[in-house]
Amino acid sequence: MTFIQHNLQQVRQRLGAAAENCGRDPQQITLLAVSKTKPVSAIREAWQAGQRCFGENYVQEGVEKIAQTRDLPEAEWHFIGPLQSNKSRLVAENFSWCHTIDRLKLAQRLNDQRPSHLPPLNVLIQVNISDEQSKSGISPHEIPALAQQIALLPQLKLRGLMAIPAPETEYQAQLAVCRRMAEEFRTLSTAYSNIDTLSLGMSDDMEAAIEAGSTMVRVGSAIFGARHYPPSSQ
Ligand SMILES: *Cc1c(COP(=O)(O)O)cnc(C)c1O
Repeated sequence: MTFIQHNLQQVRQRLGAAAENCGRDPQQITLLAVSKTKPVSAIREAWQAGQRCFGENYVQEGVEKIAQTRDLPEAEWHFIGPLQSNKSRLVAENFSWCHTIDRLKLAQRLNDQRPSHLPPLNVLIQVNISDEQSKSGISPHEIPALAQQIALLPQLKLRGLMAIPAPETEYQAQLAVCRRMAEEFRTLSTAYSNIDTLSLGMSDDMEAAIEAGSTMVRVGSAIFGARHYPPSSQ
């Protein structure tokens, strides 16, 4: 078994155990493999081990990998990085999902640029749940107004919320912030149909995210190993 196959098996076990521990069906939690900085060969290996959803942070890198993996049936690409408006077209034309909507202007551009022959782009509103100055995302009280505007855009399908909580080492602290996010998610889902995705949890906090109610965990290093160059400045 290869390194990546082995890691994937471990992560699936963690996901399954975390779901079972709180009485959830593991099938209702999507594993998104975050392949940023990793080569196409690693993506192929994960695909061969049954992985279908992949997340990329950098537009150019993601678009190149998508082009190089067109032969992989059912591979689904999620854009999960900060998105500058001048790069929105590449996301609209190449990805199935964008997790990082944090302003109306970006949503409008993606809507206008989404090719009509493709299904609507699935989008998530990114929420700054830890209230860090440096992190992107809107504050929770701004969710209703942005959601209302996005819901009017026909080439976008609003599916839910995404967050990157500030790193916490204690499980209870992770759980507390994840629960605040889950509360925002529940509120949004009572207001709109199609809201079914809470993108929350990474390699180090996926268990807490799952206990809180995450429906999509974004896992990079636990699957592909440590990243060898730091994320570029955004
Ligand atoms: C890099 C990244 C991840 C994966 O992080 P790991 O700690 O490697 O699992 C998840 N979400 C986002 C938005 C990321 O940028």
